[in-house]
Amino acid sequence: MTTLNSISGSAGSLSQFDPQALPVSAAQAIVLQWATPQVPSERVPLRDALARVLASDVISPIDVPAHDNSAMDGYAFDSASLLVHDAASSGATLTLNVAGKAFAGHPYTGAIAPRACVRIMTGAPMPAGCDTVVPQERVECSGSTAGEEAAAGSLAEAVTESITFRADAVTPGANRRRKGEDLARGNAALRAGRVLRASDIGLMASLGIVDVAVRRRLRVAYFSTGDELRSPGEPLDPGCIYDSNRYTLGAMLQRLNVEPIDLGVVRDDPESLAATLKAAAESADVVLTSGGVSVGEADFTRTQLQTLGDVSFWGLAMRPGRPLAFGRIWSGGRPGAGRAALLFGLPGNPVATMVAFYQIVRPALIAMSGATPQPVPLIPARCDAPIRKRPGRTEFQRGVAERDAQGQWHVAPTGSQSSGALSTMSEANCFIVLAHESADLDAGDAVDIMLFDGLV
Ligand code: AMP
Ligand code: MG
Repeated sequence: MTTLNSISGSAGSLSQFDPQALPVSAAQAIVLQWATPQVPSERVPLRDALARVLASDVISPIDVPAHDNSAMDGYAFDSASLLVHDAASSGATLTLNVAGKAFAGHPYTGAIAPRACVRIMTGAPMPAGCDTVVPQERVECSGSTAGEEAAAGSLAEAVTESITFRADAVTPGANRRRKGEDLARGNAALRAGRVLRASDIGLMASLGIVDVAVRRRLRVAYFSTGDELRSPGEPLDPGCIYDSNRYTLGAMLQRLNVEPIDLGVVRDDPESLAATLKAAAESADVVLTSGGVSVGEADFTRTQLQTLGDVSFWGLAMRPGRPLAFGRIWSGGRPGAGRAALLFGLPGNPVATMVAFYQIVRPALIAMSGATPQPVPLIPARCDAPIRKRPGRTEFQRGVAERDAQGQWHVAPTGSQSSGALSTMSEANCFIVLAHESADLDAGDAVDIMLFDGLV
């Protein structure tokens, strides 16, 4: 059996790191080696496919558009007429008889004589023999009630008998959308691994697709550990606090569109912990715990994880969020017995839980869901206050950022950077990302920020 330690050792450069001062990038790389896609596929109706991960390429069964069509309201004609009238000689005009009309959904099916055209509306199929559309604004109409028609913008009655326009008003092939120009039949319209967005749902609908193969949602079990924790709705006994991590974790998992399995609060007691971990490995692909991974007297999580699975205990060179357990646990209660699940033991402090989730867990869950994790964009900003920072760890400070009138982003840290102060996460709208090697910053220095929008 491949073990976590042998994998991280075989990654070459990763083995050079002290597991008690593991750079964030090294931890992310080890985790991603383990986070291989786990889940089978299932078919869902198009309407239920938003934010799901596409399980196989979507091949276009038709051409989109299905036929050459007009991009404008105007008149369709054969551009050979332009040559006859030598468009290069400026001022030359062309007069064409209007043979009929083409509406979207109502093609013109008649033949077109030389020096004739067809009144055409946007999206209507190009009549056979026509390759160019002259926009209606560029023509002069003649006919019994042509003026009224133009004023009313209506085509209810066939009133225009002929049109005249400057031959240089249009080039051959203009204002025509080609069959298959958006998507050609037989080509991949969407690639497997894509997290489906609104435009993708519409695009599949435009291909006439009814249902789609997506990955089953990743099942993620999570629980809080600690004798001091009470759930909202329970009385707060002396010395106790309300459990917030289970709620932030549940909410962040909802945002990732995985299937969250809430296993409640588990007391600091070895038997309860072992039973919950085994049940979690039985039902879930991934297990998240919070609390109990630092070295404290009541930290039974640590010993239980060591017994039940193949788990490493890291000190990340990260702030907040230093202690982290990572590995596999088995439902049978010992390595190799029963069903395995990937395990992340997150720190108990509420902000540390969130930072560890975003930086380490989130990319792994995305990869295990069958999608490719994309790095969250960093935006250059000017820091409006000095920041104390020790080189040798990556810091994710909570900040409030805004753009000035010149388009420059400015950021200031929220007051407290305590890893227990969840209120400052709510106050902030970004992380100020201070790179591993960076040192103290003066007011006005350049920093990178990671906006919460679309992330939290
Ligand atoms: P621990 O790592 O278990 O020692 O927890 C570190 C700190 O985080 C302690 O102050 C805990 O009370 C607090 N903590 C642990 N779990 C939670 C939780 N689920 N909700 C809120 N605070 C927590
Ligand atoms: Mg605890």
